[in-house]
Amino acid sequence: MEIRVRNVSKNYYSDGKKIEALADVDLTIPSNRIFTLLGPSGCGKTTLLRCIVGLESPDTGEIAIGDEVVFSAERGIFVPPDRRGLGMVFQTYAIWPHMNVFDNVAYPLQARNESTEETVRKVAKALHFVQLDGFEKRPATKLSGGQQQRVALARALVAEPKVILFDEPLSNLDAKLREETRKELRRFLTELKITAVYVTHDQIEALALSNTIAVMRNGRIVEMGTPREIYFDSDRQFVADFIGHANFIPGKVAVVGESGTRIDSAIGPIACAKKIGAAPGTAVTVCIRPEFIRVLKESRRDGENVFRGKVESLVFVGDAYEGEIRVGETLLIFRIEPTTAVREGEEIALHFDPLHCSILMN
Ligand code: ATP
Repeated sequence: MEIRVRNVSKNYYSDGKKIEALADVDLTIPSNRIFTLLGPSGCGKTTLLRCIVGLESPDTGEIAIGDEVVFSAERGIFVPPDRRGLGMVFQTYAIWPHMNVFDNVAYPLQARNESTEETVRKVAKALHFVQLDGFEKRPATKLSGGQQQRVALARALVAEPKVILFDEPLSNLDAKLREETRKELRRFLTELKITAVYVTHDQIEALALSNTIAVMRNGRIVEMGTPREIYFDSDRQFVADFIGHANFIPGKVAVVGESGTRIDSAIGPIACAKKIGAAPGTAVTVCIRPEFIRVLKESRRDGENVFRGKVESLVFVGDAYEGEIRVGETLLIFRIEPTTAVREGEEIALHFDPLHCSILMN
């Protein structure tokens, strides 16, 4: 079920000051996909989710879920949360400690007076789906964090919602469990063919889980795309900087030719495969991810996008070496194979492919 958010704004007032939590947000969340709202703390993700759920009323705009307008400031429409057909999973699992697994999952069905027979059938189906068959009688407190989160998911699924919303649901799990649960969740949601709206400030989680990511900043959606588009093709420094690590090298457009763009930068001329519609002399920033910097054995090698520098720091992190290379006045971060023979203090040559240099407009 598609969700359409049109011109939604929401201000809060605190100590006489206006806080612009959402500023004219316009967004279409596609049907049956995993859609993530990603952004730094305070950018408005939770407020937007709460407006969709109906726990918060926007000041302006309209929200529609499928064919139904559930909120319209202009037309005075407000459909209460329990009639929007949504399921929710929160950061705190919000399962009831005094109840067993069955009662926790059955709660939404009992609240709407479904028959015992139907309730038993639907709870068993939901528990089977989250791979907790046979856990019905287990007290909620005697479950691991990951299992509790699966109970919360089963409870959100049991009422067969059209849309399910997640607010940082994995942030209370330890790193390894978070990774496992993320994979499971992606599998569940893909199998279910349900519209999922997911809020997180964790870029890795967003990249690993989503079909589409909307990056938010200061109450606005600044970029939307697939994880690959957001990671590789963004032409905004805020997005490139927020998603993963990146080197930002200031420069000016020198030549825009058939095979790409040459930038005169702080470390010398950089060839970028991308052609841009900017005149020579325009100030830009070249963005290069640390994993695309290659260290060359022959430190005297010349050629396109080959630079010489000194390894200033080198840290072994298991699956890679991470470090910094000084090229002239510029410090570049890099991430290379852990088997590369390179030492701190060594003079080396480095190279990056023009395909991996993106150009950000200032
Ligand atoms: P986080 O990742 O930290 O949860 P977020 O992106 O979800 O952040 P929101 O919780 O939507 O951000 O908050 C957006 C802005 O609105 C923030 O500046 C926040 O302080 C403010 N805000 C949120 N709720 C209220 C409230 N009830 N009263 C006043 N200000 C609020």
